[in-house]
Amino acid sequence: MKYDRRHFLAGAMASTALVGLPGCTTVNQATGRSSFTGMYSVEDDIKLGSQEHPKLVEQFGGEYENPRLQRYVAETGKKLARGTEYQQFPYQFTLLNTPIVNAFALPGGYVYLSRGLMALASNEAEMAGVLSHELGHVNARHTAERLSAAQMAQLGMVLGAVGGAALGLGSGAAQLSQQIAMLSIQSYSRKQEFEADTLGVRYMSRAGYEPDAMVTFLSTLREQSVVDAKMRGLPAGSVDQFNMMSTHPRTKDRVEKAIQAAAVARPKNARIGRETYLAKIDGMLFGDDPNQGYVKGRLFQHPGLRFQFQVPEGFRLMNGRDQVVAQNQSGAAIIFDTGKIQRSRDMSSYLQDEWTPKTPLKDVERIIINGQEAATGWVRGQSKNGGTVDLRGVAIRRNAQSVYRMLFVNPAKDSAQLAQGYKQTTYSFRRLSQAEASKIKPLRLLLVPANKSDSIGGLSKTLPYGKYNESWFRVLNDMKPNERLPRNRRLKVVAT
Ligand SMILES: [Zn+2]
Repeated sequence: MKYDRRHFLAGAMASTALVGLPGCTTVNQATGRSSFTGMYSVEDDIKLGSQEHPKLVEQFGGEYENPRLQRYVAETGKKLARGTEYQQFPYQFTLLNTPIVNAFALPGGYVYLSRGLMALASNEAEMAGVLSHELGHVNARHTAERLSAAQMAQLGMVLGAVGGAALGLGSGAAQLSQQIAMLSIQSYSRKQEFEADTLGVRYMSRAGYEPDAMVTFLSTLREQSVVDAKMRGLPAGSVDQFNMMSTHPRTKDRVEKAIQAAAVARPKNARIGRETYLAKIDGMLFGDDPNQGYVKGRLFQHPGLRFQFQVPEGFRLMNGRDQVVAQNQSGAAIIFDTGKIQRSRDMSSYLQDEWTPKTPLKDVERIIINGQEAATGWVRGQSKNGGTVDLRGVAIRRNAQSVYRMLFVNPAKDSAQLAQGYKQTTYSFRRLSQAEASKIKPLRLLLVPANKSDSIGGLSKTLPYGKYNESWFRVLNDMKPNERLPRNRRLKVVAT
């Protein structure tokens, strides 16, 4: 899932000519404050959104193909959109087929929810809170603001480069300013988050939803990011760049303040919609979609492309859009991807001449991996931060035009200790038969009533997260760390 918000923003910036100093501020109809949106009109918002919409959907695994659930998300979204200020936006709501936990909005009313986020929510009001928050960004026109700010940063960058050249600094200074320009548009600012929450509360109330659902869901999101950080061996508090907690930085305290600031009357008999929501998500795909490749502990399987391999003990697999990455806690990584063969006839010439043409490899040897022609070689080099690292490449023929590639990278001091595991990983690569591939079934989220004999250990054992299964089960079911299993409600479990 490699979508990067910066890509489309950078594209949008590049396609917009910088004509003089854009000085127009407009009064935003939703926030009531005058905002600097440069030369972007409401019509531009719609144009930009409709241009970027198909790209975003593709980058995030496509639409989740479940018409009933798509309709539910769209109906809830449209009910909320009726209470927004910019009625000229062609509001559209899409459920994305990705296990990452996030929600996005493009200018002009394009709103996205991931299947991973939907699995975490416990009721319709929580989902409505996320959609409303995104509608807040859309109506406050935050992207137009950020693009305009980016243009100013870009202008600063041009000036900076000129100044840098005059001082004899070369292009390094220009590069730095460019990075700053990119960073400044990576996630929303705290102020924009607060605004999106305040507007979101307004839209929720207008549609009759309980605004406090925003707070309850935020704590679920936080719990999930804590478990996720633990699973990745990262300190608590660090979140994945694709996680909602990273792109929409919020705290419980600030969301509560936003609810106050919205100053709207609480709807009478505010809607929570727990049972409706749980009935809708019952049976939804959970985790990876096997069609995009499948992580099962240390095993990676791709029933569509029909292969599998296993990484060593201590490595954690992550399935990306263009590559699969496994990392351990001491800085070693295994990167798996595919490559195109331009001219090489065998794998050892591919390895040396096409994959690493500028780096002579040592000990290049031809090998056979479960019947597949392959080659391997290694090199010692310097990492960016000055450490000595070893890199080993393995190229495995896929067909006449393409290869599968494994790159093993680690601090040089660990090489001897990792060698055996790397070798096992290399030789674990094999094709899957049709019969094997068809047996790989996706995991699904199921809602079950708790029985007297049930235990958390038993109910959570079918989750795909090993020793973190129980923590994940608690997050899915809104249970505190020491809370006992509730007996009076349905529980989310995961099964094939
Ligand atoms: Zn946000």
